[in-house]
Amino acid sequence: MDLETGSDKSQYATLETIFGDDGFADFKWIAPWQIVVAQWVWMKCMFGCSNYGRKGACSPQTLAVSDCERFFREYSDAVVFHLRLQNDDPEERIRWYRETALKLVELERKAFLAGFKRACMLLFGGCYLCHECTGERSLCKLPEKARPAPEGMAVDVFSTVKKLGYPISVLTESTQAADRYVFLMVD
Ligand code: SF4
Repeated sequence: MDLETGSDKSQYATLETIFGDDGFADFKWIAPWQIVVAQWVWMKCMFGCSNYGRKGACSPQTLAVSDCERFFREYSDAVVFHLRLQNDDPEERIRWYRETALKLVELERKAFLAGFKRACMLLFGGCYLCHECTGERSLCKLPEKARPAPEGMAVDVFSTVKKLGYPISVLTESTQAADRYVFLMVD
């Protein structure tokens, strides 16, 4: 049992059942201190990503790197979900991102209702919930559903998932099959 939050083993078992029932059976637990947070990730967002400043759930509208580190330290457990995207049609890929993101936000709600009151999902890069993003967190059309990506929280996803033995590689074409990862923070 986590003495501060009161979460016990049966709650964790319930959570794992929910993951499987909702179609997210490929996951691994990771201690939050093992999640690699790095300044260079923020730099790559700022100089190199077309979403920077154009998405309401991306940097610079997320937290500063030092605050990201503090955020991860506040949790006792985290889950990394591995998702495989194989569709090479651009519109279908966006549809997959949108539909999967909505399911994952619902999964976060179920974790909350299962007793993990700090449950927080970090979705895949950018936010694809709307056809056109307002680009402003304060003007977000779905503020209760939008979530930052791990990268938007300065997570070095490559280094982190490799610790778990998960596959990840640099894609040279946007239509290539992709290993995508989302993080659920709980305790
Ligand atoms: S929910 Fe819509 S408006 Fe809000 S960040 Fe995502 S795409 Fe942008």
